[in-house]
Amino acid sequence: MKIKIALTKGDGIGPEVVNEGIKILKVISDYTDLEVEFQEAPAGGNVWKETGESLPKKSIDIIKNSDVLLFGAIGLPNIPQGVAESAILRLRQELDLFVNLRPIKLYRSLKEQCPLKDEFVGEGIDFTIIRENTEGLYANVGGFLKDEVAVNSMVYTKNGCERILRYAYEFAKTHKHTKITSVDKANILKPSQMWRNIFKQIGDEYPNLEQENYYIDAFCQWIIRKPYAFETVVTGNLFGDIISDEAAFLVGSLGMASSGNIHPGKVSMYEPIHGSAPDIAGKEIANPIGTILSIKLMMEESIRKPKIGIKIEKAVELALDEGRTKDIDNYKLKTLSTSQMGDLIANKLKQELKS
Ligand code: ATP
Repeated sequence: MKIKIALTKGDGIGPEVVNEGIKILKVISDYTDLEVEFQEAPAGGNVWKETGESLPKKSIDIIKNSDVLLFGAIGLPNIPQGVAESAILRLRQELDLFVNLRPIKLYRSLKEQCPLKDEFVGEGIDFTIIRENTEGLYANVGGFLKDEVAVNSMVYTKNGCERILRYAYEFAKTHKHTKITSVDKANILKPSQMWRNIFKQIGDEYPNLEQENYYIDAFCQWIIRKPYAFETVVTGNLFGDIISDEAAFLVGSLGMASSGNIHPGKVSMYEPIHGSAPDIAGKEIANPIGTILSIKLMMEESIRKPKIGIKIEKAVELALDEGRTKDIDNYKLKTLSTSQMGDLIANKLKQELKS
């Protein structure tokens, strides 16, 4: 089976981590029945400096004609705020990527790196945040008035709530979760009240799933106090942005966390959750695992090859037993550069795919 993958390497450490992702995809192409074809679709701050556009039309066309997009990170410190980032917001809207999937998993060998005490880690941390990705405060409804008033409105539609909540229920069901958790601010915000009603209505169709609701402020502390207790967590756009960075901190490093921006059945985009990290760009120390685990998600959610996804994860776990990039404190194992970590995981994956 042929798959066309668009590549947006982006700014800062984006190209460094995507290059390691390409190594993994080449192994998949060599050792499975998937035949991978790449095409670059530049976007971000560097492209804006050259062309005046952070997402040139040519790149959008390449992305729309691909099966999936692997995205690095964009953003540069010395250009106007929001210019580079607008490329991501546009992609989410143009491709209608209404699901943002963010797994939070503490790998066995990184347990010591979790900032929580054992009693809070419990049986382990393994849950998925499903963030609504096109509405809410990111719907781009707002503006400035004479530089003195600035407004963004939190806009949710019934259809927008229904489709993300239904996706979350189906996700929980297919992953054999026992519980689904919805996070909102229904005691104050009208859109949250509509969200909560729809969560309950759709929930009536899933009687075997335990359903619970949290307010966002309380949830921010429960994610620290009992992260082991969650399985599928569904929430709105801004709340999801905040809790997924908070949760990523629990799994050892921001560089470990992966994500998918998804429209089921259509072109979707996979990216590490970290940004362009200009402070470490060019130093060959960035952790590429968030990108590599995003390819795991790509295999599961878009390419429909979950067995390859499982093997990627296994390769990552085996590599973490042998070495770590610099972002993860480590007294016993080798410290690896970005490309050394990519090579190690690629070698482990070859072994897994051969077995
Ligand atoms: P954004 O808002 O675009 O997410 P940000 O400035 O909030 O970006 P990042 O660019 O993700 O945050 O970086 C925050 C810090 O985390 C960086 O200074 C860097 O030290 C560290 N960091 C981020 N990603 C990685 C990675 N892959 N490997 C190692 N360290 C990383």
